[in-house]
Formats: sequence, C-alpha cells, structure tokens
Amino acid sequence: MNILKAGFIKDFIKIADDGYKMGWHECNGGNLSYRLREEDIELLRFSLEASGPFINIGTRVPDLAGDYLAITGAGSFFRNISLSAYDNIGIIQINDRGDAYRLWWGLASGRGPTSELASHLMIHSVKKRANKDGQRVLYHCHPVNLIALSFVLPLSNKVFTRELWEMMPECPLVFPEGLGLVEWMLPGSLDLALATSQLMEKYNGVIWAHHGLICSGEDFDASFGLAHTIEKAAQILVKVLSMGQGKVQRPRARDLKALSDTYKLKLGQEFLIDND
Ligand SMILES: [Zn+2]
Repeated sequence: MNILKAGFIKDFIKIADDGYKMGWHECNGGNLSYRLREEDIELLRFSLEASGPFINIGTRVPDLAGDYLAITGAGSFFRNISLSAYDNIGIIQINDRGDAYRLWWGLASGRGPTSELASHLMIHSVKKRANKDGQRVLYHCHPVNLIALSFVLPLSNKVFTRELWEMMPECPLVFPEGLGLVEWMLPGSLDLALATSQLMEKYNGVIWAHHGLICSGEDFDASFGLAHTIEKAAQILVKVLSMGQGKVQRPRARDLKALSDTYKLKLGQEFLIDND
C-alpha cells in the first residue's frame, strides 16, 4: 500500500496545512506526532521497512516499547509537509528497552525526528499509561495571541485557565480540566520534556511561556481543535486587554458552575474561585 494514502497520513498532512494557514508555523516552528493504532500497522505491514540503526532517545519510555509513531522531522517546515510528506514526516519504531528508535519510513531529507522528540515520547508514554481516552496525537504550535499573553499575565496555570475559560463557553467545554503551564525552558531539552509530561498527567493542553502550546488529543481533530479553541480565546483576551479598560464585566464562578452542572463537566475546582 502507498503509505501516503493511509488515513492517518492524510489527517497528519491536513493538520499541518491547517496549522500553517493559521500562522502558527513560521519557518520550521512546531511539530506533530501520532502513535499508530494496531490497524494502521496491519494495513502498512508490507509497506514499512526498517532502515538504519537504532538511535538513542536520551531518555527511557518503556511504555512505548515496540510502538510506531509518525512524527515531523527536525527542521521540517509545516508549509512543506503537504508538498513533500515523504521528506518531512517519518514513521519510527521504539525498541524493546524504550531507549532508542529506528526509522521505518520517510524523513527522506536525511534529518531525524523533531528536536522535541523527548517531549513527544514522554507525553505519549504518560497518555498511554493512563489510557487517557486513547490519546495518540500531540500537536505543538506557536499561536501568536497565547504567546503574547505569556508576556503580560502572571505565569500561573490558574490565571491562564480562568482567564481563557471566561472568554467563551466553548473553553470550559473543550478543556474542563484546565491548562498546564511551564515557564520558559530550553526548547528540545529533557527538562522541558519532563516538566511537560508531568503536567500532561492532568491536562491535555500545556502552555510553554514565551514559546507556544502543546496539545494532546485522541485524534487529529481533538488535538488541533484544542489548540484552536485556546488560541481563539487568547485572541479575544488580547482584544479585551488592548481596549485599555480591563474587563468591565465577566462570567463569575457561579456562571461557570452552572455551565458545569448543565453539561456535566468535571471542571477543575481550583479554577472556580473568584478572586475579586
Ligand atoms: Zn516550538
């Protein structure tokens, strides 16, 4: 089978294109990964071929032993993924010890997987271990308004979650558990991977202050939709703050609780306290 015709590769390419058109992927910014299902692997069984040696990951992810992942390449431009997926996406497999990977398809450009490989693998490991809705898509992007807010709002997940929840009812519906946040950390570092994967035990969206956002979802729509919702709320908040009056009125905790009761949401209780 032509791997480019596989459903998950088509979805992968579409999200890359959608994200690029949103303006979230300048140059080689952003990365995307998908942990293949059994049926994906079965479908491609005669099309995948191991190439090259195992390469050390720099950390251990034993929960992912034997798993295959589709992932963007280091230095790949999202705008080029639909033009040349074979160059810019790879399918890798994790070894039995969970400390190395091998390429099975793609990344014909010769570059390895994204520099944020450790973050992707450690988060996939957390989500798989917790069987969180079968989550298997991780999407990292650079959305303008959210990044801008990280320069003016206190760097607290309580502040960001509550501020964004108030912007539109879709927000508590889409991320009822709230959002995680890490202060600026070195991109591609194990420290960033560790901090993010710990927050992903609880959240599906983690803000990287002064850098971007990483979202987890059970499929491509869920992961992209979460990023889209967060960034739209951030855009509204930037507009509100730019008007210079602050918030003249806003939904209160009781309003959010009513939303929670009506739609049976499990809203994070720590974000349901009015501080003014
Ligand atoms: Zn980034």
